[in-house]
Amino acid sequence: MAYNKHFDKNDIRETEYSSKCSATGCPMRGTISNSGGEGSFVCAPHFQGQPDEWPRITESLIESLEIRLAIDEIMKIDDLTWETGVRGCNPKSKMFERYFNDDPLRPQGKELLKKPWYEYRLRNELMFIAGLCKKPQVRQE
Ligand SMILES: [Zn+2]
Repeated sequence: MAYNKHFDKNDIRETEYSSKCSATGCPMRGTISNSGGEGSFVCAPHFQGQPDEWPRITESLIESLEIRLAIDEIMKIDDLTWETGVRGCNPKSKMFERYFNDDPLRPQGKELLKKPWYEYRLRNELMFIAGLCKKPQVRQE
């Protein structure tokens, strides 16, 4: 393999791992390329929204701090820890009471066993608050 003197690992880390959503003021990470893998990255809500909706989407994401923090926490928990945790065997289960109290956004039903289902609903809740999808329901099977 030829050595490429222009190759710089820091550039890759910046674009692939550290990029913020390129929408002005957006608090989310930019995970989806808006231009075929080059240039700017945006979060899923900004990717789905039309350009004239972007400021409103940004506002709704800023206001959804609890959901964003909860998603960050969920991503740090492996599936097995999740399953035992939400059954009350693990202190991590208290985390979501802290975020949501008796709110319907707490994990419910099969979400107690399947972390991806819960994470999916919270991500859709962000989309709902941004006006980009209908109200997400707790998945039943
Ligand atoms: Zn964004």
